[in-house]
Amino acid sequence: MTRMTPLLERNEQFASTYTPMALGLPTAQVLIVTCLDHRVDPAIVLGLRLGDAPVIRNAGGRVTQAVIDDIAYLAFLAEQLFGEQVAADRLFEVAVVHHTRCGTGFLADPSFRHRAAEATGLAEAALEASAVADPHTTVKADVERLLTSSLLSPKVSVSGHVYDIVTGRVTTTVDARYP
Ligand SMILES: [Zn+2]
Repeated sequence: MTRMTPLLERNEQFASTYTPMALGLPTAQVLIVTCLDHRVDPAIVLGLRLGDAPVIRNAGGRVTQAVIDDIAYLAFLAEQLFGEQVAADRLFEVAVVHHTRCGTGFLADPSFRHRAAEATGLAEAALEASAVADPHTTVKADVERLLTSSLLSPKVSVSGHVYDIVTGRVTTTVDARYP
């Protein structure tokens, strides 16, 4: 018995009507970067279906070096496998989605951050950098960070959005643009 037992039962339901799909371009031609918060599951919030969009999630949905590395690899892979299927100058759009009332917002408070650093061994500066206190501000900063990264393919565009936990609505803060 594990806490996974009921979820494995749901998987059994899923598998009973499942049809496998070949590796292809994501149907929505969008890659989502968002918070790992269980209240902001992009499959539900954005109505994603299987095969629609790759999703990268971390605390806050921040554009870290690891996220940039993953996007660089995915752009390379898409280009190698499906370069002939897409317009010569574009592969996919990266949509960075931050949200209101994010759990990382607590890290904007210096004493909370200090305690978090002591308890986890993580650097205080890194914790401060991951905080999403105002999602409109952080999403702009992260779109900029990605657009100015030398690792970002010129065929990848980037946009920024904010999900409001209270209304369930996603609004666009930064329109999609290429590096
Ligand atoms: Zn969050």
